[in-house]
Amino acid sequence: MSRDDWKRERNAALAQARLIVVKVGSAVLTGSCGLDVAVLGDLAAQLAALRTAEGGQRHIVLVSSGAVAAGRAELLKGGRSVETTGLAARQAAAAVGQGQLMRTWDTVFRQHGIPTAQVLLTRDDLRARQRFLNARNTFAELLQWGVLPIVNENDTVSVSELKFGDNDCLASLLVNLTGADVFINLTSAPGVLDADPLKHADARIMECIDDVASLDLAQLCGGKTSVGTGGMYSKLLAARRAAQIGVPTFILPGREPQVLLRAFIHASAVQKAGEPFTGGTWVRPARHAIPRRKFWLAYQSEPSGAVLVDAGAARALLNQGGSLLPGGVCGVEGTFQRGALLRVLHEGQALGVGLTNYSAAELKKIMGLKRHEVAAILGDAHYPEVIHRDNLLLHAAV
Ligand code: GLU
Repeated sequence: MSRDDWKRERNAALAQARLIVVKVGSAVLTGSCGLDVAVLGDLAAQLAALRTAEGGQRHIVLVSSGAVAAGRAELLKGGRSVETTGLAARQAAAAVGQGQLMRTWDTVFRQHGIPTAQVLLTRDDLRARQRFLNARNTFAELLQWGVLPIVNENDTVSVSELKFGDNDCLASLLVNLTGADVFINLTSAPGVLDADPLKHADARIMECIDDVASLDLAQLCGGKTSVGTGGMYSKLLAARRAAQIGVPTFILPGREPQVLLRAFIHASAVQKAGEPFTGGTWVRPARHAIPRRKFWLAYQSEPSGAVLVDAGAARALLNQGGSLLPGGVCGVEGTFQRGALLRVLHEGQALGVGLTNYSAAELKKIMGLKRHEVAAILGDAHYPEVIHRDNLLLHAAV
């Protein structure tokens, strides 16, 4: 794809976007003294303008970090020495900071006549289909009222298995939940660099990522892949998820003056006049979007184990659109029940994730066996597949 093609595609996507998920990281919103009110004020002014810019009617869902950082700064005020690093302390700091974060957002949006709503979510809230649909209806109602939803993870009650991991992940799930057209990720970095800047002084910003699914994220991020610490890895993982459902991501430097307005308004202007916009990283959507149901099953919970498959099964899954059968399983990791989400691995390489028809204990009894051998152990009323292809997402971004 030529440079002009992707720029044209980007400008058209921005100009036509009607529902945008905007995620802002703590490093953009806070400084050493806690929340940077001027930055929040500036972003609110831009988002307010964006809602109606160029005669458009855009809806915005804002995912805002910063509760923990704001809480910590508050607790340390006046020379108090408070330990805020452990999990419980982090959760408690979030409880202190979330109110402050919301109050500040509400004040700055009110200056533009925009009412806000606080939405705090845990992963568990979206795992059950019914609750997922309830949340979707609430967002639809808020947006229809002209209210701007401001979302954060419900840190105070999120313990490891309930956690989204980080707000990049939460935002990518909201892109699916709300049916957004574009995902904007505002970060403290200038964009995605093509190499680790600590090792390569000549690292350059990648203006466009054509096929995010084929990027080696671990290598690109210098091995810094731990989710929950933010960083580019989790941003690219989130972008990969959005790309899978056909939604582009724009990773932009959130502290750059007027960055949102420049990106969007120039996009519209370019459609008319031809002015360029440079900066940030545009992540193109996948050509073939996956069904939303697959997205939901793959990402609403953390995998609770893994199934190891042989070369024949790997080929059948990757090249022939097949399901995983007991005969292709050569190992099981973890303890899980029927219906659990599992990673599918071949020789240490992740092929995807899927829902298992068998518990870990059952799988250990039947792995490597043919259908009639499985029937001899489990009786006739068993599933032919360990993971049906309809419940399998290949190349999952987990
Ligand atoms: N929920 C956390 C906070 O508000 C931030 C998590 C993240 O930045 O990924 O501080």
